[in-house]
Amino acid sequence: MNYLDQFRDKEIVKGLARRITELTAGLSEPLTFMEVCGTHTMAIYQFGLRTLLPPQVRLISGPGCPVCVTPNGYLDRALALSRLSDVIITTFGDMLRVPGSSSSLMEERAKGADVRIVYSPLDAVQIAIKNPSKRVIFLGVGFETTAPTIAGSILSAQKLGLTNYFVLASHKTMPQPMGILSADPELSVDGYLCPAHVSAIIGGNAYRFLCEEYGVPCVVTGFEPADVLQGVEMLVRQRLAGEAKVEIQYSRVVSWEGNPKAQAILAEVFTPFDADWRGIGVLPGSGLKIAERYAAFDAERAIPVEVEPLKEHRGCLCGEILKGKVSPFDCPLFGKACTPESPVGACMVSSEGTCAAAYKYGR
Ligand code: SF4
Repeated sequence: MNYLDQFRDKEIVKGLARRITELTAGLSEPLTFMEVCGTHTMAIYQFGLRTLLPPQVRLISGPGCPVCVTPNGYLDRALALSRLSDVIITTFGDMLRVPGSSSSLMEERAKGADVRIVYSPLDAVQIAIKNPSKRVIFLGVGFETTAPTIAGSILSAQKLGLTNYFVLASHKTMPQPMGILSADPELSVDGYLCPAHVSAIIGGNAYRFLCEEYGVPCVVTGFEPADVLQGVEMLVRQRLAGEAKVEIQYSRVVSWEGNPKAQAILAEVFTPFDADWRGIGVLPGSGLKIAERYAAFDAERAIPVEVEPLKEHRGCLCGEILKGKVSPFDCPLFGKACTPESPVGACMVSSEGTCAAAYKYGR
C-alpha cells in the first residue's frame, strides 16, 4: 500500500466514522466543528465526509478560502490598475473571474487589458524583466502559505534592481478571525479543524489563545479523508473530556513552532495591519501589508489610481457563508443565477470556495 493510500482506505475511514458515532451516541445536542481551510472544505465535499458522520456532529465551513475573503474594494483597485495602458496584471488563475463592483479581470482582459495567469510570483518577476517599459503588478492574495513566496519575489526584484515590479498586497493571517468567530454568540463553535498549510508556516502554538481565551478545542488536521475524520474524533474526545487544547493530527507536516525561515521572510517584507475580510469586517492585526522599507514595490502606494465606488453583489450570502452562519444551499441564487460558469460571488469562483465545492460535489 502506498504511504498516502492508507489515508483514503475505506475500512480505515469507515472505522473512524463508526468510532465518532459511538462516542457521540449519548449527546442530546450536536457538536459543531468549523474548518477554516478551503482545501478542507473541498475534501469534505469531495469525499462526502458529512454523509459518514452521525447527526450529533455538524461540520461547517469558515473563512478559509483566500480569494473568497478578499473584499470587493481590492478587486476594484486591481481592475482600475488593469485599465492603465502600461500595466501588466499577473495573478493566480482563481482571481480572474471574481466579480468586482462592476467588472472582473476576465472582462477587462476581453476589453484589451494585459492580464496574465502565472503559477508563481517569480514568473511575474520574469515578466517584469522581459517588459522593462511596462509596470508589472502581481496580485498578492492569500494566507501565510503564499505570502512567503510573494515576499521572496519582492526581495528578488530588489536584488535585480527592478523598478517595474509591484505587488498589490491583500494577505490575511489566520488565527485572528477564529478568535472573532469564537466570541460570536450567534455562532457556537465547539472546535476548529485548523488549517494544514497555514499551520506548516505558523505552527500549532499559534492557536493556543483560542483554547485559553475562548475554551475552544483546536486540532491541526490534514486533507485526506482519514485525516479529517481523525481530526473530528480528536475534537469529539476533547469535548467529551471537557478539555480545550491544541493537538496536531497532521504531525507528518506541521510542528509546534512552524517554519522559522518563512516566518523571518514575512517579518522582513511585511508588517501587520488591520485587514478587511469579506463578510467579517476589519480585524485588528489580521493582514500583512508591505513594510515601509519596501514601499517602492507596493502597487497601492506606488501607483495611485481612482477606484470606482464600492457595490456589493445583491442577494449574495458569501459574507454569512464565510462566518459559517448559512450554507450555500440556503442561498436562493445557488445553482440558478449563480454557477461556476456565471458566478455572482467569490465563494462560487475559487476552487477553494464553499459554494464552488457544494456545486461540484454536494448537489
Ligand atoms: Fe454568493 Fe453565489 Fe454563494 Fe449565493 S451561491 S452565496 S450568490 S457565491
